[in-house]
Amino acid sequence: MSALMQTYARLPVTFSHGEGVYLYDTEGRRYLDGIAGIGVNALGHAHPGVTNAIRKQADKLVHSSNLYRIAAQEQLAAALTQVADMESCFFGNSGAEANEAAIKLARLYGHERGIKKPNIVVLEGAFHGRTLATLSATGNRKIQAGFEPLVTGFIRAPRNDVEALRQIAANNPDVVAFLAEPIQGEGGVKVLDSQYLQTARQICTEQGWLFMLDEVQTGNGRTGTYFAYQGLGLMPDVVTTAKGLGNGVPIGACLARGEAARVLGTGQHGSTFGGNPLACAVGLAVLDAIATQQLCANATAMGQLITDTLRADNSIAGQITEIRGKGLMLGIELYKDCGELVQPALDAGLLINVAAGNTIRLLPPLVINAGEARDLALGVADLIRKFN
Ligand SMILES: *Cc1c(COP(=O)(O)O)cnc(C)c1O
Repeated sequence: MSALMQTYARLPVTFSHGEGVYLYDTEGRRYLDGIAGIGVNALGHAHPGVTNAIRKQADKLVHSSNLYRIAAQEQLAAALTQVADMESCFFGNSGAEANEAAIKLARLYGHERGIKKPNIVVLEGAFHGRTLATLSATGNRKIQAGFEPLVTGFIRAPRNDVEALRQIAANNPDVVAFLAEPIQGEGGVKVLDSQYLQTARQICTEQGWLFMLDEVQTGNGRTGTYFAYQGLGLMPDVVTTAKGLGNGVPIGACLARGEAARVLGTGQHGSTFGGNPLACAVGLAVLDAIATQQLCANATAMGQLITDTLRADNSIAGQITEIRGKGLMLGIELYKDCGELVQPALDAGLLINVAAGNTIRLLPPLVINAGEARDLALGVADLIRKFN
C-alpha cells in the first residue's frame, strides 16, 4: 500500500487544506476538527498569524545553528519564561525531546547532589513519549513491549495516591524528581486531583525532589490557563511543553526555575534543529495569538459549552460513565470500548479520537466558536446515541 513503516493504523482519508476548525479532504468534503492534530493546531488551520510568521521568517532565515545566537529563540525563551513564571528554557523539536531534556536535567541534578543512581517517580497511565527514556517513563506496557531493556531509573506510582508517594520517599533515598501530566491525555483524559498535586509538590519540596510537569498536551492554553499548573495555584520546578506551541511547526520546550534553571551547562545537552529561527518565529506568533485572541478564556467557555450540551442530552446519559477534563481537553468515557466510533464520525464529517479504549477524547482548536462547539457536541452526542 505504501513505502511507509506501518507504525500507524491510518484512517482512509487525506486532507488537502484547512481553515479554522475545518479540514477539507482531497474529494472536497469538509470535516469539523475535534482533535486538532492531537492538540497541536491550537489556532486552527491556516491561521493568518502563523502563516505570516512562516512566510516572513522563511524569506529571511530558516536555520542557522545553535553555534550562533538566534534572536527569535532568545525572544521566545523570554516570552515563554515570562508567561510560565519560569527562568530558563531549552528548545527541542517534540514533546518526547522536551521530556528527555527534563529527565537528563533531573539526573544531572541528582549527580550534583552525590546521588549516583538517580530515580524519577512517574505515574501509572502516564504517557511521556516514544523515545527510549520517555517510553520507559510511560506507564503503559503496550508502548514498552518489545523494546526491553528499558531505561532504568523510574519508579512507578499509582495516580492520586499520596500515601504511595510518602512510602516511596521513605524507602528510596535515590529519588531526584517527580514527573507527571496534570491531566493524562493518552491515558484517557484522567485528571489528577488538585489536592494530590499540591501534596506531591509539598513532598518534593520536603525531599529536595524536582517537581516536574509534562504539559506537552495540557500547555499553551488548552486547559483554560497558559499552563495547567496556573489553574491549580502551584509552581513546578520544571515544565515541558510542545504540541500547541508551534501550531504544527515542530518545537518543544523544557522550562525550569530556581536551582533547576541552572543545572544544564555548556555541552551537556543539545539539538541541531532545536529552537531554530523558523520554529521560534512561529512560537512567538502562537503566543501572541493566544494572548490577543484571549484563547485561554475561550477554551474555558467552549469547554463548558460542550460539556453542558452533552450533559443536557438525556438520550445518551445512560451510555456515559463520566465526562471529565478541563477547558478544551475533554474525555467522554462510555460504558464500553468505543474505538469503532472513529469511522462513523469520519463518515459524519467529524474528527474525534478515542483514548484508553472507552473514552472519546476531544481536543478541538482553541479558536472554536460557540456555534462550532455546539455542532461538535451535537455531532458527538449523535454518534453516541447511534452506538449500541
Ligand atoms: C504527545 C505527548 C508527548 C510526546 O510528544 P511527541 O511530540 O509525540 O514526542 C509527551 N507527553 C505528553 C503528555 C503528550 O501528550
